Amino acid sequence: MKIHHLNCGSMRRLDPTYQGPPSAPAVNHCLLVETDSGLVLVETGLGLDDVRHPADTLDPSWVEMAAPVLREDETAIRQIERKGFDPNDVRHVIVTHLDVDHCGGLPDFPQAAVHVLAAELRAAVAEAPSRRYRPAHWAHGPQWRAYESTGDDWFGFTAVQPAGLPEEIKLIPMSGHTAGHTGVAVHDGTRWLLHCGDAYYYHRELDESPEVHPILDIVQTGAEVDHGKRVDTQSRLRMLARDHAQDVTLFSAHDPWEFGRLAT
Ligand SMILES: [Zn+2]
Repeated sequence: MKIHHLNCGSMRRLDPTYQGPPSAPAVNHCLLVETDSGLVLVETGLGLDDVRHPADTLDPSWVEMAAPVLREDETAIRQIERKGFDPNDVRHVIVTHLDVDHCGGLPDFPQAAVHVLAAELRAAVAEAPSRRYRPAHWAHGPQWRAYESTGDDWFGFTAVQPAGLPEEIKLIPMSGHTAGHTGVAVHDGTRWLLHCGDAYYYHRELDESPEVHPILDIVQTGAEVDHGKRVDTQSRLRMLARDHAQDVTLFSAHDPWEFGRLAT
C-alpha cells in the first residue's frame, strides 16, 4: 500500500517551544492510501464548501480561534486530483472524530463509505449544530459505517477492523477528546503509522518529560469532553512511543513539525 501524507488545511502559525525548527502553520494531517479496495482517505481536513463559503459551514468563533487559511488548493479533493487520481476512486474515508477540521471534506466524497466510531456519530447527531459539530458536513447523507470500541489487542490498545478494508488499516479507539475519538493505524509494509488525531497536539507531549505547547494546549483542554480519559490516553500513547518505537510511528493531526518529518 502506498501512503501519501497530505495537509488539507493550514491554520494558525505556531512557534516551537525550543530552538531549532522554524515557525509553521498548524496543519490538518491526512493520509491518502492506495489499496486493493480503492483509495482510502484518512481524515478529510476542510472541504470545498468550507474554503469557499466558511460562513455557511463553520462556526465563526472556531474560524477566529483556528485562523484557517481557507485555500481551495489545500483541500483533499484538489490534492488528489493533482496527484492524477480520480476523486471518485476514494471508496473509503476514515475520520478520527467529527470536529469540523477532521470531516469538513466529507461532502466532496459522497460516494465513499465513512468509517467512524458509533459513539462519535451518536454525539455528533445529538449535539449538532454546535461549535464542533456542523450538520452541513453530513447533510449529503454519508454511507456511515459505525463501530463499537471492541476488537483485538494492538500493542495494549484495542484494534477495531473496519469493514471492507484490509487488515493493514485499523481503528484504534482513543477516548477523551470527543465522545468517540479514535486513532487510525496504517501499516506501510515495514511499520505501523498511527494517526492519533487530536489525542495529543504537540510532539513534545510524547517525550519522557512531556511539554505542552502554550497555544495548542489551550485548544486541547478547551475541546476535551473527558479530562481523565484524555490524560490517560496521552500517557498510554507516551508509553507506546517509548516501548515500541521500532514498530509504530505516532503522529497527531495538527503538529506541523511531525508533518514536515513524515511528508518528505
Ligand atoms: Zn482537530
